[in-house]
Amino acid sequence: MNVTQLFDLSLSGRRDKTALEFGAESWTFGQLDEQANQMAYALIRRGLTAGDRLAVYLENSPSFIQLYLACLRLGVIFVPVNILYREREITHILSDAEPKALVASGNVPGDFPFWEVDDLVAEANEQTSLPLLDNPTTGDSPAALVYTSGTTGASKGAILTHNNFIANAVNLVACWQITEADRFWLPLPLFHVHGLGNGIHCWLLSGCRMRLLERFNYQTAANDLIQFKPTLFFGVPTIYIRLLDWPDEMAHALRSTMRLFVSGSAPLPAQVMEAFDTKFGHVILERYGMTETLMNISNPYIGERRPGTIGFPLPGISARILDPEGQEVAVDVEGEVHIKGPNVCAGYWKRDEATKQAFTADGYFKTGDMGVVSADGYVTLRGRKSDLIISGGFNIYPREIEEFLLEQPDVSEAAVVGVPHARRGEVPVAYIVPNGTFDAESLSARCQAGLASFKLPKAFVAVDSLPRTALGKVQKHLLPQPESIG
Ligand code: ATP
Ligand code: MG
Repeated sequence: MNVTQLFDLSLSGRRDKTALEFGAESWTFGQLDEQANQMAYALIRRGLTAGDRLAVYLENSPSFIQLYLACLRLGVIFVPVNILYREREITHILSDAEPKALVASGNVPGDFPFWEVDDLVAEANEQTSLPLLDNPTTGDSPAALVYTSGTTGASKGAILTHNNFIANAVNLVACWQITEADRFWLPLPLFHVHGLGNGIHCWLLSGCRMRLLERFNYQTAANDLIQFKPTLFFGVPTIYIRLLDWPDEMAHALRSTMRLFVSGSAPLPAQVMEAFDTKFGHVILERYGMTETLMNISNPYIGERRPGTIGFPLPGISARILDPEGQEVAVDVEGEVHIKGPNVCAGYWKRDEATKQAFTADGYFKTGDMGVVSADGYVTLRGRKSDLIISGGFNIYPREIEEFLLEQPDVSEAAVVGVPHARRGEVPVAYIVPNGTFDAESLSARCQAGLASFKLPKAFVAVDSLPRTALGKVQKHLLPQPESIG
């Protein structure tokens, strides 16, 4: 089965139901289906066929969805491009994916030839009642080529098949109990798997009503949420942290309508989860996924959602944690998380060597994330393998120090990185976005009292902001390099 067939099945009987709201407009499932078919014809007229790539550089919009659904029908591989990317990053993706065309609106930076999205939509919508197209794709056909976020360096294109998206959506809809009665508020970018893989697919599989936002806007979010009365919300930690600043009345207004808040893409600090529960009366459900695998591990919908953890492997997904020698670790011992299942991508686009490196001989994907499992099966991520600091023979997980720093009232954001050190190899250095006045000496004293000596940051660097991706992940390689220490 391909994704279009799955959506067709779940949408039959719901064609007149409202599917999508965007701004003041709304569309039924039937209208979206018709538009996707019209767009598929428009893409054929422009010369696209199965296996071609189509790159899309667009803000969240109904046209984005129309294009995606049209590509699924044609077997055209959809290549979403981060709307914050500039000329250099766009060039990287276009030269790698070699799309037949780029769809954009007038604001595309650089000198790229592109198809103007409004023209394409107008052209598609000119012709109505076209016969349904034969769909050449199978479950194994690539549906999208999605580039990783580039948090740790240049992004790589993950080939996601129809089966990958289906396995992911079926799992999440079942595990998070998403139904057609849900009202789903989605402010996340559709160019990323969080919005595309989870957002779009869970929406269309469950047949719920989605209110799509162009982006998250703290100023307008409160009114929009209160008016829409959502039951379901997918967010990232930076959004939840912002929502903590809301007046209590607004938090109260959401409390009774909401059913489920989900967080992922970056670690949700345990204290944010607790503060959110106090204010909103809901325990955020944290889950773990990546571009290459979609969702892997999730806290339960029913049962304890444990702060700081990501829960259990989703159904049908095998997860294991291995030490550097390749042996499975004991309870509470750290190692690298490996994943196998129908959610795992077919590999990296045109990068056979990187694909080979990413998988083990027995077919597990090496996530590059370090984690531990508790005696009762909850997985906790410690951070990325590449962020691990090895200092005088000790392993230091920056996330532990960052969480300690975030508990300090004078710290609003923190990132810890390893800096070369003559004797110890590396030592931790903390970058701090201060909350009001900030005194490095006093902070250092608190760290000394709360952390083992080898974990103590050797310097505290105050910065105005941390470099972050569109989903709020800290891009540590873009922090200003401090001089080597010691
Ligand atoms: P790149 O691979 O290009 O460096 P990236 O890994 O950030 O970028 P994504 O695929 O968007 O690109 O993100 C996946 C990563 O996000 C995971 O490997 C993990 O490090 C992090 N992540 C996702 N969910 C969580 C979570 N709940 N807690 C902690 N980290 C998470
Ligand atoms: Mg990655």
